[in-house]
Amino acid sequence: MTTRLVLQHMRPPPTTTKGRRKLVDKHGRVARDLRVSLTDRCNLRCTYCMPAEGLEWLPTEQTLNDAEVQRLIRIAVEKLGIRHIRFTGGEPLLRPNLEGIIESTAALRTDEGKKVHIALTTNGLGLDKRVEGLKAAGLDRVNISLDTIDAQRYVHLTRRDRLAGVLASIDAAVNAGVLPVKINAVVMPGVNEVDIVPLATYCLSKGAQLRFIEQMPLGPRDQWKRSDMVTADDILTYLRDAFILTPAQEPRGAAPAALWEATSTTDPGLNGQIGIIASVTHPFCGDCDRSRLTTDGTIRNCLFSRTETPLREALRTGASDDELASMWATAMWDKKPGHGIEDVGFLQPDRPMSSIGG
Ligand code: SAM
Ligand code: SF4
Repeated sequence: MTTRLVLQHMRPPPTTTKGRRKLVDKHGRVARDLRVSLTDRCNLRCTYCMPAEGLEWLPTEQTLNDAEVQRLIRIAVEKLGIRHIRFTGGEPLLRPNLEGIIESTAALRTDEGKKVHIALTTNGLGLDKRVEGLKAAGLDRVNISLDTIDAQRYVHLTRRDRLAGVLASIDAAVNAGVLPVKINAVVMPGVNEVDIVPLATYCLSKGAQLRFIEQMPLGPRDQWKRSDMVTADDILTYLRDAFILTPAQEPRGAAPAALWEATSTTDPGLNGQIGIIASVTHPFCGDCDRSRLTTDGTIRNCLFSRTETPLREALRTGASDDELASMWATAMWDKKPGHGIEDVGFLQPDRPMSSIGG
């Protein structure tokens, strides 16, 4: 608490003699984890994320090219203390040269002299054919999004008939050993509560770690209602119909998921961990260690931020690495203490989730 009070009267810490600084905010949090959105485009149309007709995609000239993304990633790692990078989107597998971007990221060394930990959040389409190559390029882990294993509901939820491809990719990722393979599932009221137990059974049988995510107000406007949402507590109640759950022992740190050890009540051999990300009902903002870079070169200090810091123009008009690092550090300094979803007067950010990068 003392640290927080002192920091509120300071400015972002200056660089050290080695030209490094940390992405610290005025509430004392340090960002070590960078989410990089590599495209706002997608080949699915998940109902909670996008309208059926898609969105107005960013024009290519407004998006960062490979050299620009690679430069900002290098600055984040070499000058700003980033140690974990997750590539996301939109659908990051649609980014041409994803393998090359991962390879150049893997060549960087953190302030601890280690390889950057590299992860990918993907809908899984086409991953089965690319996962070995991505691993060879330096990918450490994948999160694959899957909200149902029922073929008809998958079509309803994503507006595309692609379930078989996702399931093949989960098998391929497990076989490639980019472990633990994590499966992200968003639960929506009246849509897929019925899938909670089947998804858990499927993931445990595959040795994948399922993480349920509370739906957040980031998709099509007016679709999300706090009063209707399926909460983490609701999800636990559904799971307890079929599993014995005990809290996992390992410390949570900055991880968003609360982990549970789950054992099937009918088949004790079916067991493993299940995570619940209660972003709305039990926010973890106090431990948040993330910074975000959008595909058009903007820094966001929070998913829900209503302000952004564009770096693209500075990048294209000759700013030095130190100047860009300084703009980035200033953007993070002003990070709010919490997302404010439960506040009266909360306003959804103007950018949709697919453009911010989830
Ligand atoms: N296309 C990739 C995918 O689906 O994994 C990466 C981008 S997607 C925006 C990243 C994650 O955000 C997915 O796991 C998705 O389920 C989740 N997501 C999207 N909209 C959401 C919302 N309104 N609330 C909670 N999670 C959401
Ligand atoms: Fe595409 Fe991911 Fe959004 Fe689904 S959640 S529409 S896969 S960006």
